[in-house]
Amino acid sequence: MPSAAVHAQKTDLQQRQLLVVLALLSVLVQGLTLGYMVMEAQPSPRFTPVVFGLLLSVLVSVLTSTPRLAVAVIQRGVVALLTGWLLLNLLSVMVTHRPITSGLLLHTVVLSLLAFSWLPLRWAAIVACPTYLFLCLCASVSTSPDFPGVLLTGLIIPLIWQVTADGHTVRTERARNASLRELAATDELTGVHNRRSGRARLAALAERWAETPDQLAVLMLDVDHFKRINDGLGHDHGDEVLMAIARLLREVAGTGDVVRWGGEEFLVVLEGLKPQEARAVGLRILEEVRRTRLHGIPSLSVSGGLASLDEAFDVRDLVRIADQRLYQAKAGGRDQLI
Ligand code: GH3
Ligand code: MG
Ligand code: MG
Repeated sequence: MPSAAVHAQKTDLQQRQLLVVLALLSVLVQGLTLGYMVMEAQPSPRFTPVVFGLLLSVLVSVLTSTPRLAVAVIQRGVVALLTGWLLLNLLSVMVTHRPITSGLLLHTVVLSLLAFSWLPLRWAAIVACPTYLFLCLCASVSTSPDFPGVLLTGLIIPLIWQVTADGHTVRTERARNASLRELAATDELTGVHNRRSGRARLAALAERWAETPDQLAVLMLDVDHFKRINDGLGHDHGDEVLMAIARLLREVAGTGDVVRWGGEEFLVVLEGLKPQEARAVGLRILEEVRRTRLHGIPSLSVSGGLASLDEAFDVRDLVRIADQRLYQAKAGGRDQLI
C-alpha cells in the first residue's frame, strides 16, 4: 500500500484510539463523581448534569468503537454536544443568576481545546469566541461572577489556538512528507516500486534474511516481444500492457514487492519462501500472463530468471544472476523460467 495512504490510516487509527481513551476516562470520572454524590446522601443540584454527562460519555464510547463512523464525524459530534451542553448551562445562569462555577470555566476551556484540535481553524473560532463572550455576559448577571476565573479562561483560549495551530502545521507537513516519499519511491505508470526504491528495499531485506539467505529470492521478468506491441499498436497499448502486468504481479506475488526495474522489466522480490515455493510462484506468474487477455492486444508472455541470495555474494550479484538467467530464458525461446 502506498506510504501516504498507510500514514493517513495510521493517523486515523491513532485519533480513534485517543477518542476511545478520552471517552472511557470521561465515563470513569463521571461514574466516580456520581458514586461520590450517592454516598454523600445529600441531594445535589449537580446530580442531573452528572447523570447526563455519564450517559453522553457512554454514548461517545460506543460511537468511537464503531469502525463505520468516521473519526471526523465523531469529533464534530462531540464538539456539538459539548457546545449545546455548555450553552444550556449558561442559559440557566442567565435565568437563575446562579454563580459561575469552576466547572463552567473548565467546560469552556475543554470545549475550546477540542474545537481547535478537531475542527478547521475558522469553525473552531466560530465555536469558541461567541461561547466565551456569552460566558462573559452571563458572568455580568451572576450573583457570584468569578471575574478572575472568567478573565483567565479568556487568556487560555488564544493560547490553545496558537498551540493547536502549530500542531496542525506539523501534521500537514508530516502528511506532505509521506506523499513526497511515496512519489520518490513509486513508478508513475504502474504504481509499483521504482528501481531506486526497489534497490533500497532489497538491501534491507538482504540484512533481514542474512541467516537464511535461501529464503530471499528475486525473479527478473521481461515482457516478450514488447516492442512489437508498441510498434504495431502504439505506445498507449504498450502502457496498458505494462499496467496490466504490474497489477497481475501484485496479485500473484502476495506480500512480495514488485519493482519496475526498467522499461518492460519487472523484479519481483520473494521473501520467506523455500526455493521450490519461489519457483512455483514464478511459474504461476508466467501462466497467469499467458492467460491474460487485453482488448485488442495479442496474447502475452514473459520470460523470467530466478535466483536466491544463497547463490550470490551480495544483492547486486543476486540481481546479476537473475538477469543472466532471464537472458538464458530469452535465448531458450522465451515464455519460460530459468
Ligand atoms: P524481447 O522479447 O527480447 O524482450 O523483445 P522486446 O521487444 O520486448 O525488447 P526490446 O528491449 O527490444 O523492447 C523494449 C521496448 O520497451 C522498447 C521501449 O520503447 C519500450 N518501452 C520502454 N519503456 C516503456 C514505457 O514506459 N511504455 C511503453 N509503451 N513502452 C516502453
Ligand atoms: Mg522484452
Ligand atoms: Mg527488456
